Amino acid sequence: MTLRARLTTALLTVVLGPVLVGAYFVGSAVAAVDRSRSTERLAVAATAVRASVDALCQQLRAAADAVALADDRAAVAGQVVGRGLAAAVRVTDVAGKVTHATGQSPTAPWRDCSARTPVDVAPGALAVRVDLWDATGVPQGTVTTAQPVDPAFMARLAGVTGAAVTLLGGPDAASRPRHTTEPAGVHEAVLAAAGGLDGERVVGTADGRYVRRVGPSDGQPLPLVLSVPSDRPPGLYAVLVAAVLLVTLLAVIVAGRLARVTTRPLVELVKAVDRVARGDLTARVPVRSRDEVGRLADAFNRMTRETGTYVTALTSSRDQLRGHLAVLGDTLASTHDLQRILRLILHSAIAATGARAGAVLLVEPGGQLVAQATEGIEAPASGSGPIRVPLGDLVGAVTVSGESRRGRVEPSGVPPGEPRCRTYVAVPFAAPRDVGAARGDGPAARPGGPPDGTAPATFGVLALYDRLGGDDFDDDDLVTLRTFAGHAAVAVDNVRVHEEAQRLSLTDPLTGLWNYRYLRQSLRREVERATRFGRMLSVLVLDLDRFKHINDTHGHTAGDLVLVEFARRIRGEIREVDLAFRQGGEEFVVLLPETDALGAAIVAGRLGAAVRGTPIAVGGLGEPVLVPVTVSIGVAVHPDHGGTGQEVLDAADEALYAAKASGRDTWRIAGMAGAATPALELPVSAGSAEGLPRAGARREAPDGPRATRGNGPETDPLQGSGTAAPDGPTSGPHPPRQSRGR
Ligand code: GH3
Ligand code: MG
Ligand code: MG
Repeated sequence: MTLRARLTTALLTVVLGPVLVGAYFVGSAVAAVDRSRSTERLAVAATAVRASVDALCQQLRAAADAVALADDRAAVAGQVVGRGLAAAVRVTDVAGKVTHATGQSPTAPWRDCSARTPVDVAPGALAVRVDLWDATGVPQGTVTTAQPVDPAFMARLAGVTGAAVTLLGGPDAASRPRHTTEPAGVHEAVLAAAGGLDGERVVGTADGRYVRRVGPSDGQPLPLVLSVPSDRPPGLYAVLVAAVLLVTLLAVIVAGRLARVTTRPLVELVKAVDRVARGDLTARVPVRSRDEVGRLADAFNRMTRETGTYVTALTSSRDQLRGHLAVLGDTLASTHDLQRILRLILHSAIAATGARAGAVLLVEPGGQLVAQATEGIEAPASGSGPIRVPLGDLVGAVTVSGESRRGRVEPSGVPPGEPRCRTYVAVPFAAPRDVGAARGDGPAARPGGPPDGTAPATFGVLALYDRLGGDDFDDDDLVTLRTFAGHAAVAVDNVRVHEEAQRLSLTDPLTGLWNYRYLRQSLRREVERATRFGRMLSVLVLDLDRFKHINDTHGHTAGDLVLVEFARRIRGEIREVDLAFRQGGEEFVVLLPETDALGAAIVAGRLGAAVRGTPIAVGGLGEPVLVPVTVSIGVAVHPDHGGTGQEVLDAADEALYAAKASGRDTWRIAGMAGAATPALELPVSAGSAEGLPRAGARREAPDGPRATRGNGPETDPLQGSGTAAPDGPTSGPHPPRQSRGR
């Protein structure tokens, strides 16, 4: 059942209920009033009938008395009849024989005025009989006076009473009436209604008359029925029914229309809701009024409009995010450019949360967060270098606690060093797995790694500032940001692992110096650089003297220890810009950028001295054994001794051979016949730093490169001088082309 049908039914019930009840009351009240008035009229008519009949009887009695008292009864009887006091006078003797009769005798039977018994036959007249006595009291006969009960009499009664009068023809009402003044065609119904009546009861007939009986009773011997017509307006019920029907019809029309008008906005609303449910957010409802339904429609329109706007915004931000993720994925897959990846992650995080600014900061050795990527943040006041945030406050505190933070700060409450903001959210990120294993062993600690072994696992923070719109960052933002922080952690770790792998592939695992592979790269690069800038580049080739003997005497492990210690001493004697390599076996190479032969000779002398000066302690479980070690060094200089790296290296090899040939524990410069004579003071300029970490890098000696003489002992400490290297880099005996260093 629809709402409209229900509303129509309700309105009809409300309207028709009272109408029907009202019609019923009007009908029954009119009937009750009519009945009581008719009963009253019938009572009045009955009284009038009794009075009339009584008066007639009195008159007949008086006439009979007059005749009985008269001497000349015949004459008096004639006067009585002549005056109309009785229609007939009859005198009888004791035997009942009529002795005198005057007037026209009415139809029998005559009804005595004093009779009160029911009649068997309808009386033809009313009569009064008086007994005659003589003076001695002997009965003489009777005098009877009579008046006919005929239509004229009935008409008089009807005229006196104002009611229709019927004289019953027999003992009950069913017998044919003797006389009646009822309108034609009515008396049957009246008689039928009078059937069971007695006393003063009143009944109504179907054709709208009220009926009662009068007599026979005391003083009224005639069996009469009175009836009066109903006072009710004719057709009252028909009018009432017609009115009810009319009202019903009108009510149906009005209720239907009212229900339609009332439910139309709701029907429209339902249709619009259906459209929205099917995904059409353009559905709108016309607002026709300011009532509750109108307000509902208005609210629906606003709700749908805002939902539409929201969905549009969501869709576009989802598309944006997809775009960012695609770019992020491509970038992560295709590059190890950490700065670029972090910038992209930051940009995506800012776009996803609607922040004004943000930064990705990494923990640096020394306990500072250093911004690697920023967006929307002004450069620090000093204007130089990236933003540095001390650990401990605000965003810095995230690093220490390892917990995400978000909140609001007063502009004056921003700790020094941190970017100015009103609201912020900061999420720490840590290595997705343990990355500290290789630290400390290699030529350099991993760049950007935790400052030391006890540093927190956190190595970076992703921080966003000032959510657009002024609201605080919420938990959803925090969740989003954690995702991006996870990306940042993976990216940083990937890049570091990549760097580590690259470093390992270029490092000698025993000594930690650069390996032969990196020597080839470095040599090519340094020669190019020296050529481009017109600078000198010196190459030192070092070979431990009689190393086979050390192995043979103390064991291979001891030999390894000697190699490790030798590498350490090399590192200790060169500048940060210099590069030390293990070429293979017990042969090493040192590249000295921006260094001429004089400088190279000084370094060679210093290296020889550093090895020679302190025997190397070897030995595992037992007493350490001190092994005296010496080294022979060949020196060559670009571009003097070769145009390419290989040529310079070959030249240095030859010089090494010369050094070996001249007795070992000394150095020789390629192409020089005599001993090199290094100057005492040689300024050696430092080269610029470059991308890859340098094996063997160390602090610059505070007093600069020391000037020492490249002299060695005249005789080899182990085996004496003059023995050529059996498997030196160059083959065949070479004549000593260099003099030994002094
Ligand atoms: P010279 O003074 O002429 O250079 O004599 P040498 O004994 O040093 O020369 P040679 O080239 O004959 O010997 C080199 C030895 O170095 C041979 C090899 O057993 C040893 N050796 C090479 N690589 C390693 C290494 O990694 N560890 C150890 N313990 N020994 C090595
Ligand atoms: Mg050798
Ligand atoms: Mg050797």
